[in-house]
Amino acid sequence: MRINQNYLKLEESYLFSTIAKKVADFQQRNPDKEVIRLGIGDVTLPLCDAVVREIHGAVEEMGNQETFHGYGPEQGYPFLKSAIVSYYAQRQIDLQPEEIFVSDGAKSDLGNILDLFDTENTVLIPDPVYPVYVDTNVMAGRSIVYLNANQENSFLPMPDPRVRADLIYLCSPNNPTGAVYRKEQLRNWVDYAKDCGAVILFDAAYEAFVQESGLPRSIYEVEGARECAIEFCSLSKTAGFTGVRCGYTIVPRELKRQNVALNPLWLRRQTTKFNGVPYIVQRGAAAVFSRKGMAQIKSNIAYYQRNAKIIADSLSDLGIWYTGGTNSPYIWLKCPGGRTSWEYFDYLLHRANVVGTPGAGFGKNGEGFFRLTSFGDYEKTKEAMRRIRQIVE
Ligand code: PLP
Repeated sequence: MRINQNYLKLEESYLFSTIAKKVADFQQRNPDKEVIRLGIGDVTLPLCDAVVREIHGAVEEMGNQETFHGYGPEQGYPFLKSAIVSYYAQRQIDLQPEEIFVSDGAKSDLGNILDLFDTENTVLIPDPVYPVYVDTNVMAGRSIVYLNANQENSFLPMPDPRVRADLIYLCSPNNPTGAVYRKEQLRNWVDYAKDCGAVILFDAAYEAFVQESGLPRSIYEVEGARECAIEFCSLSKTAGFTGVRCGYTIVPRELKRQNVALNPLWLRRQTTKFNGVPYIVQRGAAAVFSRKGMAQIKSNIAYYQRNAKIIADSLSDLGIWYTGGTNSPYIWLKCPGGRTSWEYFDYLLHRANVVGTPGAGFGKNGEGFFRLTSFGDYEKTKEAMRRIRQIVE
């Protein structure tokens, strides 16, 4: 018997445990100081009323013989898939219900999709990045080529024709950098993927945060993307579903490799290894796309965006370089004074009692950068930025 040796190659992630330990130590030594957390990647506002009502109704149905639901379709109930089709149609993107696969969130699908691809494939992953892309490929033993995202390319790396890849990860709006690709840039990626015969894995988990019209919220806004891209989306940040769990993945019917359509392969994978998202959750998810639900989640997103603006405006005033903020809940700043990410973390914690996330935790190009998030409380975010302004040398 042999275990999967690739698991031994995974790098231990100390990022969030180290942050927690440093904050706990600081609080123990300074019990009178109020620490403000601007590092969290989780939402804080509760589910909106339209979702809560629908979930309550669904629970009632489950408690009645006549309306009880057992196993549902593995790929999602038609009522939710048609709500997602309409959501995309508002942006002139035509999807068929069979192209949508409802899941318990983007993280699972981002990992599971790799079942469809040979382990000999080369994977292109931006650095810095959401660590799941790297770790899931290390687990499978694939070789990874990193794509440098840095200040010079505004953390929006473009394809290098000298580098060939089979799988390409793109995340826009990006975690951790908050950077958002423009349509022409995504068009370059689509052209490159087609040229290589590669498949783009497009993570649109933060699409709902895009405010500027003209900025793409889906890879399918680019012509030809249906032949080369799979899109992952999540209700986690869009509608506060981090604890409820619901997302969806789109595998267009035109997407074929080696003359094999990927849509039926993914269907086969899901029907074999996955038994669907709870009916109760899917009813709540469908309510997100209702008229009331959309208005309510928009107001929650606006709350976070007001926080992002406070952070971004303060950094602009202080002359600190940053990306993100406007179309993203994340603000990615260059550590002032030439500090490393962890030096800046300690500095902010000790001098301003504010917690953020060191960029070095997201890849080597994250060194010297720092992530702040807008998922906190408005008054606390204001107070945190007031303190950061005060400590500037
Ligand atoms: N993709 C990105 C870029 C994320 O930042 C996250 C969560 O933080 C996810 C996917 C995971 O989303 P979900 O909660 O749907 O699994």
